[in-house]
Amino acid sequence: MKTVTLRNGVTVPALGLGTWNIGDSASRRSSEIESLRKGLEAGLRVVDTAEMYGNGRSEDLVGEAIADVRDEVYLVSKVVPSNASYDGVHEACRRSLKHLDTDWLDLYLLHWHGGTPLDETIQAFEDLKDDGLIRGWGVSNFDVDDMEEVENLSGNCLVNQVLYNLEHRGTEFDLLEHDLKSGTVTMAYSPLGQGGELLEHPALREVASRHETSLGPADPAQIALAWVLRRPNVLAIPKAASPEHVAGNLASLEISLTDADLKTLDGAFPSPKRKLSLAMI
Ligand code: NDP
Repeated sequence: MKTVTLRNGVTVPALGLGTWNIGDSASRRSSEIESLRKGLEAGLRVVDTAEMYGNGRSEDLVGEAIADVRDEVYLVSKVVPSNASYDGVHEACRRSLKHLDTDWLDLYLLHWHGGTPLDETIQAFEDLKDDGLIRGWGVSNFDVDDMEEVENLSGNCLVNQVLYNLEHRGTEFDLLEHDLKSGTVTMAYSPLGQGGELLEHPALREVASRHETSLGPADPAQIALAWVLRRPNVLAIPKAASPEHVAGNLASLEISLTDADLKTLDGAFPSPKRKLSLAMI
């Protein structure tokens, strides 16, 4: 399986499991837990959640799903900017640990850049690390100028989690390269365009028709994911609430896009020729 190595030496699979909107519905709960378990059993051990997702309901469900395999999971959660003060980060982290029913997070991210000075948030992250409550920290929705600010304060930022899919290629202009050069892994969120119009696009259908996986003919979701995963240093975290979708996403790892495929996709979704402001959801 394709992997990425974080600057602290930890290597994880380049395909993980997103959990936004998971845990909100009693009727979907067992399927959501089954989906996470299926992904974990297949080795997709990076699980991404956040205190903001359903106000702790996503973390609750993740905690339930990983309870007996906690040691094998690379668990990621995020603190919202309104909790990013020194004390706020400590309190939010303890709340997240409680929801997740665990003693530690593998990675703790600042969800986006807010009003709190970054050095205060970073100091809180470092102290949580010293206390063993987190094993590493990073950021999310940070553009190049934000990353430079972080890098001037600390050399310990492991990950920058940003929106990256065929419809949102703005990061290709400079951010992906910046992260690669500085040794920060880029975590790609919404790699499937949130399961929306992207997956209906004729270019994706055309490319899918040229590929097979062990499950049968490839589908547009697998092409969208294979396209994100083609880059080094990028870890994709699609959210899938059915075991079938998890299986499909896993099979995307079998697909190598050809130059002709990339040309078709570039024609439909051009890479930016100038700096764009960082898109976020
Ligand atoms: P995704 O791009 O991952 O799309 C999820 C949608 O795609 C769901 O509707 C899902 O359906 C569908 N889907 C999943 N697999 C398949 C498949 N094989 N075939 C067809 N459809 C499929 O969107 P998200 O916005 O959820 O992003 C992924 C994760 O990134 C989030 O869950 C969250 O963890 C993180 N995130 C982080 C943000 C940040 O600011 N840091 C912002 C947004 C997301 P179904 O649910 O029915 O399986």
